[in-house]
Amino acid sequence: MHIKSRHILAALGASLALLAIPALEAQEAPIVPAARVATAIPGPGPSSPSPARVVILDYHSFLGNASSNIDLSLEELAAQLDSMSALGWTFATLQDAMAGTVTGTHNVVVTIDDGNHSVYRAWKEVFQPRGIRPFLFVYPAVILGGKDFALTGAQLREMAAAGCGIGAHGYHHNPVSDKAYVKDPADFMAELRRPAGAIERLTGARPLAFAYPFGVFSSRAKEALAAEGYLWAFAADENIVPVAFSDPRLDHLAVPRTIVYRYIRPIIIRQLKALGAGD
Ligand SMILES: [Zn+2]
Repeated sequence: MHIKSRHILAALGASLALLAIPALEAQEAPIVPAARVATAIPGPGPSSPSPARVVILDYHSFLGNASSNIDLSLEELAAQLDSMSALGWTFATLQDAMAGTVTGTHNVVVTIDDGNHSVYRAWKEVFQPRGIRPFLFVYPAVILGGKDFALTGAQLREMAAAGCGIGAHGYHHNPVSDKAYVKDPADFMAELRRPAGAIERLTGARPLAFAYPFGVFSSRAKEALAAEGYLWAFAADENIVPVAFSDPRLDHLAVPRTIVYRYIRPIIIRQLKALGAGD
């Protein structure tokens, strides 16, 4: 068992070395640095099985707007998801990941931020037929305000009733950074405190998970969310980080996710392939 575990670790190390290569190839990506894999992936103990791990993807909208870095067409979305399945990755829900009921080391969790109206059609036409239940992080101001670009309250309720998790993403989608606190402490706190009650009124369930607007967090924000009863909070950047929810070192209020920028789609697939669903 020791020998096997060491072999797995060595193989993982080799995989990580390979994973550095795509970053060098991402010269065409002009705005955000290319995806990288974190160097500290929790490894198995000497005689224990590998802990369950998930890669949490962070999508935004599905309008087919090729000029937007965070938008995909439904066809692009479907192709990406099917590529992941073909590589042997399994789709899990964020609820199961948070509850510690996910097994295996090659799971993908789909989260979608902002509550764009296109999420509903993507769910109906792409996610649901594949048995994928995305977790939505929404900011209530636009849903309650009836904005054209946002999901309606009825759509949100329908998705929640069908097993899609709903979490908070601020109230107005303002950042909760230290800089934002210095600028206006009251607005900063409102961003953290207001969404839970609003989402509970919309869906009937109080959210226990929060995704930081713009992926940016601060110690003050983490403290405020803990005081509000949130159990989990999620950051986001371009890095791919397999997360072991059972790892005691995991910061529950700063769990990493990978933003699916348009231009890093091939890099994500290459890195999932390099991480190998058969290791
Ligand atoms: Zn957002």
